[in-house]
Amino acid sequence: MLKGKTAVITGAAKGIGRAIAERFAAEGCNIVLNYRSTVDEAVIEKIKSFGVQCLAYKADVSRFDEAEALIKAAKDNFGSVDVLVNNAGITRDMLIMRMTEEQFDSVLDTNLKGAFNTIRFASNIMLKQKSGTIINLSSVVGLMGNAGQANYAASKAGVIGLTKSVARELAPRGITANAIAPGFIMTDMTDVLKEETKKQMLEAIPLKRFGQAEEVAEAAVFLAKNRYITGQVINVDGGMVMN
Ligand code: NAP
Repeated sequence: MLKGKTAVITGAAKGIGRAIAERFAAEGCNIVLNYRSTVDEAVIEKIKSFGVQCLAYKADVSRFDEAEALIKAAKDNFGSVDVLVNNAGITRDMLIMRMTEEQFDSVLDTNLKGAFNTIRFASNIMLKQKSGTIINLSSVVGLMGNAGQANYAASKAGVIGLTKSVARELAPRGITANAIAPGFIMTDMTDVLKEETKKQMLEAIPLKRFGQAEEVAEAAVFLAKNRYITGQVINVDGGMVMN
């Protein structure tokens, strides 16, 4: 059911975004792979090896104009925008009393405003199509909070409010919007954490292991296929948070 559709994935040069792009390619979607700094040719080749087309598009999603250009490029190249995955994200961890304005703003700008920016333009297209699915990457930190991550937690909690509002607004035209809240997934983002922190986190995970990017990608494809789930937050966290 996803074959021939267009999937736009932000921040997809590595980590979870890359896994999501590959998983949608495996379903037969043409991929618009957004990246900010660089993307290896091997990443693009891997996606094409699934027999689909891949447009690698450089854009900083925190910028309104660049997000607009990204969504326009998707529509111009493939004729539709069927799946939008807002995956681009950053951390700038610091204790609240030492957090700079720049650390707060940059995280909010990418993680929350970035998602707004792409949805702002993709929703126009999806409304005309009367179909589409939006998947936003939140985090368990957005549900639980985390010392040293007030900026990140605020952005990821904001993503949940954004997702639920958009889900209500777009539902009458058959468009779904959901969030995925990963726990600890092994990527460059978590690789930088101290061994001691990783050990503590492992103890808080009932399944007693860190997650794989592919396990998040599987949830994204499930949400894109299912047309009767909207406004939900799906945790992919080894049981860290149980609602
Ligand atoms: P990652 O390995 O650090 O990858 C993040 C990607 O986002 C990078 O390719 C980065 O590109 C891109 N990016 C950052 N800012 C961008 C911008 N303004 N415009 C476009 N692209 C941008 O992180 P990850 O672990 O795969 O995380 C992916 C998403 O899952 C994030 O939203 C993250 O918050 C969320 N998440 C991750 C975990 C985890 O445990 N890993 C847990 C919960 C939630 P550059 O390298 O060029 O900057």
